[in-house]
Amino acid sequence: MTVKRDIKASWKAATRLVHGGQTRSQFKETAETIYMTSGYVYESAEEAEAAFDNSRPRFVYSRFGNPTVAMFENRMAAIEGAEAARATSSGMAAVFAALASQVKAGDRVVASDALFGSCQFILAEILPKWGVETVLVDGRDLAQWKQALAKPTKAVFLETPSNPGLRLVDLKAVCDLAHAAGANVVVDNVFATPLLQQPLQFGADVVVYSATKHIDGQGRCLGGVILGSEKFINETLQPFIRHTGPSLSPINAWTLLKGLETLDLRVAKQCDSALKIAQALQGHNKLAGVLYPGLRDFPQYDLAQKQMSAGGTMLSLTLAGGKAEAFRFLNALELVLISNNLGDSKSLATHPATTTHQRLTPELKESQGITQGLIRLSVGLEHVDDLIDDLSNALKAV
Ligand SMILES: *Cc1c(COP(=O)(O)O)cnc(C)c1O
Repeated sequence: MTVKRDIKASWKAATRLVHGGQTRSQFKETAETIYMTSGYVYESAEEAEAAFDNSRPRFVYSRFGNPTVAMFENRMAAIEGAEAARATSSGMAAVFAALASQVKAGDRVVASDALFGSCQFILAEILPKWGVETVLVDGRDLAQWKQALAKPTKAVFLETPSNPGLRLVDLKAVCDLAHAAGANVVVDNVFATPLLQQPLQFGADVVVYSATKHIDGQGRCLGGVILGSEKFINETLQPFIRHTGPSLSPINAWTLLKGLETLDLRVAKQCDSALKIAQALQGHNKLAGVLYPGLRDFPQYDLAQKQMSAGGTMLSLTLAGGKAEAFRFLNALELVLISNNLGDSKSLATHPATTTHQRLTPELKESQGITQGLIRLSVGLEHVDDLIDDLSNALKAV
């Protein structure tokens, strides 16, 4: 059950981030209320019956509905331009529920191969074990999508830009091919955030986020969210969530609501710094490459311009000297922290080949561009000059 506060159609994203979805109790509080309750009470047995047979919709149990969580869901829907949203306890719970709620044994799923490690595990290990055929393609190559989608397909899953290779998928082209094959397109939009790329506008059916990343953006809690049509969310997803219970805690929903209020400011600043860092490090003699979707020499620059409003908060640096130099570089950083999280106000660097993507076979690492020299950098809110100093000093130490 959800309670919607009307938003004005003319409100821009920054306004929706602050006011979208908020409901107030009888005390008319300014800030969102944390409804820390597992259940709800009824005035009569008849009222309980009506709540359960849905003739009088209301909150009945926080596993599948809570007023603070509903505020977060409605704020996310207001930003994404989606009809409805459901929150989950983590980004992986969102990815899994978005896929598992719609496929059954015998179905076929086509996905891009450059995926977050755990998304790859769901597609390559869990779904096939349950009789779902999974086909992985190079997401950059439309010919591969075309070939894979020549057969009837239930769902398409993709990430753009991908983690950590920053590979882009042409959303409009792939959505058109997917729909012709009868597939529902699910986009993991974590790297772009709802502000830089709106997959629904390019034809996607479902958008998922790890809210742990930019939406909280301050390293405090895990969360996830799934957005789509009322029909998908209420009829396909909601029964799966209600009966399997990947629920978001009200306190985490509140933390994420507060994160959303500053998302616009943070992401704009982080994108600005990321571009400056990419420009400053481009051509450095210790680096074999700097990958950032906002740089003119980015291999898919035109596509980035077409579907993203900025280059994002993440960049990839490749140390010319492989793992040994990558480790020396990480160990020489004084300000940027070594961490596998991303989208945080603190700048974070990670070595995907030995951490987030360690599980992948050498062949998969190779095909996804996860080399031993690759460093993923999540740009935070520190002063950009301090970040450039720190990164340059660490490169000198290599
Ligand atoms: C982090 C991440 C996830 C998983 O989110 P959690 O909140 O950690 O469960 C999924 N997809 C991408 C692209 C991510 O970066």
